[in-house]
Amino acid sequence: NYVLDNMKIVPENTAVIQPNDRSYHFGDGVYEVVRVYNQKPFQLEAHWERLFQSSKKLDINLTVSANELTNATNELLEKNQVTDGAIYIQVSRGATPRNHLYSREETPIITGFTMNAPKSKQEEGISAWVTDDMRWLRCDIKTVNLLGNIMAKREAADADCFEAIMHRDGTVTEGSSSNLFLVNDGTLYTHPATNLILNGITRQVVIDLANKAGIQVVEEAFPKDVLDHADEAFITSTTSEVTPIVEFKGQVTATMPIGPVTKKLQALFKDLI
Ligand code: PMP
Repeated sequence: NYVLDNMKIVPENTAVIQPNDRSYHFGDGVYEVVRVYNQKPFQLEAHWERLFQSSKKLDINLTVSANELTNATNELLEKNQVTDGAIYIQVSRGATPRNHLYSREETPIITGFTMNAPKSKQEEGISAWVTDDMRWLRCDIKTVNLLGNIMAKREAADADCFEAIMHRDGTVTEGSSSNLFLVNDGTLYTHPATNLILNGITRQVVIDLANKAGIQVVEEAFPKDVLDHADEAFITSTTSEVTPIVEFKGQVTATMPIGPVTKKLQALFKDLI
């Protein structure tokens, strides 16, 4: 198995990650996960665009081009013979002796690896754990510093839930590693793409598909009380695609069927793939 080590493709057991890497010290890095269908990375340009945006927002001077990233990605996929799976790409700000104060002269370190296709829960749906959003105020940046997300995910798993749905002071934001959509009277509701959520690539694709299919989409924040009377609910992400929620647990208790709007969007998403 091969990995990407500082933009070079090397056997996994020869890769060297430096102890001084700032992503270890401070979580000072950004990343992307891209799904691969039939050997082709899905929505690759959009992922690179977000990677550049995340870097820019953190004042990381990412000097490689999207083209170079694409070439490295394709080479790694071929080396590892990935047909259906995913690729992880990380940009660390750099490696220097530990110091909170970063320098703008750091040389970013780009690493990556391939992953197997995740197991789908799209047929049966998932239970979702409703809990507090305790993350920082720049959730729009796809940083590797994911402590708020992973603590929420563990809490959800301990309650036999697949995903945590988070709210900030009663306003629903998103999942720990996904975006949330509700359906009410045939209309889709989701949190607007502000600093409080990650604007998922899958979220954007689903909004686009819904618009084209004549399904109304409202991007407005909503309180957690509305979760218990949604007609349908689902999460979106690169790895889970469009996965229905059939039950809320925790701070909200409710069950819901896998409804027609969710099914329609799942079908449209499969068509696009
Ligand atoms: N929100 C968060 C917090 C995430 O971590 C992710 C996926 N990593 C998403 C939303 C979904 O984004 P995407 O559709 O681009 O995978």
